[in-house]
Amino acid sequence: MHELAVTEGILAVVLRHAAAGGASRVVTVRLRIGGLSDLSEEWLARYFAWLGKGTVAEGARIEVERTPVVFRCGPCDRTFDVDLKAARDFPCPFCGGNDVSLVSGREFFVREIEVM
Ligand SMILES: [Zn+2]
Repeated sequence: MHELAVTEGILAVVLRHAAAGGASRVVTVRLRIGGLSDLSEEWLARYFAWLGKGTVAEGARIEVERTPVVFRCGPCDRTFDVDLKAARDFPCPFCGGNDVSLVSGREFFVREIEVM
């Protein structure tokens, strides 16, 4: 999977922020990952622990927040959250139409880092 490359990117962001803030240690890294992303939290944490060895981020805790999957309906232009585990297709809850497109759900980013 692509977790390794993603984790390298995350670590780079974290180290840059830590250096800019003069941090001596990164305690927690909070990530936001879209509900449609197939990134594995377990592997992210493992790779982070491995890649972070010898840096100020060594031993940092990884917290992942899953963001909702959001669709927008074409005809009525309203947006709605979708629980992917509950349903396979997602008609618009307002007009019942099927002309919907994905707004968010695949994104991921570093939301916050906690340092000492
Ligand atoms: Zn609609």
